[in-house]
Amino acid sequence: MTGGKPGGVPCVQLLPNLRCALFGKPERPAVCASLRPTQEMCGGNRAEAMAGLAAMELATRPK
Ligand code: SF4
Repeated sequence: MTGGKPGGVPCVQLLPNLRCALFGKPERPAVCASLRPTQEMCGGNRAEAMAGLAAMELATRPK
């Protein structure tokens, strides 16, 4: 790992209500602000989105 958080660990800015504590603030990372969610990424509900994230973590983890 070169920095940041490990995969599978929520962002420290994620609030208990699952909203971003930095939303709308200049401190919010540019990568977050530029992300454009897609149906493929989010699925039809939270469970599908989390399953997709888990699959991406597995597919992109360091060997
Ligand atoms: S939008 Fe970015 S900063 Fe905010 S909770 Fe998500 S990952 Fe963290």
